[in-house]
Amino acid sequence: MTEAAAPHTIKWQDVKNLTAAELGFIQVLSIMMDKVHSDNQQWWMYPPKPAEGQRPIYAPEMFNQGERIALMHSELSEALEAIRHGYPADTHVTDMGNLEMEMADVVIRVMDFCEAYKLDLGCAIIAKLIYNRTRPPKHGGKAF
Ligand SMILES: [Mg+2]
Repeated sequence: MTEAAAPHTIKWQDVKNLTAAELGFIQVLSIMMDKVHSDNQQWWMYPPKPAEGQRPIYAPEMFNQGERIALMHSELSEALEAIRHGYPADTHVTDMGNLEMEMADVVIRVMDFCEAYKLDLGCAIIAKLIYNRTRPPKHGGKAF
């Protein structure tokens, strides 16, 4: 006798017939994650503040993942502050809003983190979108 599958579950390995947009998204995100991580190698050099004569090495395993996630929170807080301050222009890219630039920082941090720890973000996003289509609205009796 086999166990019944838990309700509302999927297996990525069983997902078939991805659209061209989904496949393209996975490919482009992978390329851009590599680029983002490459551009930000300095975030992953250990020790972060080397002593004189000490040569830092690339070592994601030396960093605390929780701390890295807190840096993502920090960018979301900066986005909140942009709203609280009335949606100012960004101070670095002056023809864009600060809110969208802080949201960009969030995405950059997430992409960099996932590349550093070899997490398959593109497939996970598509899998989650597919899974979410199987869920009822406000599943679990949530108010919002
Ligand atoms: Mg920021």
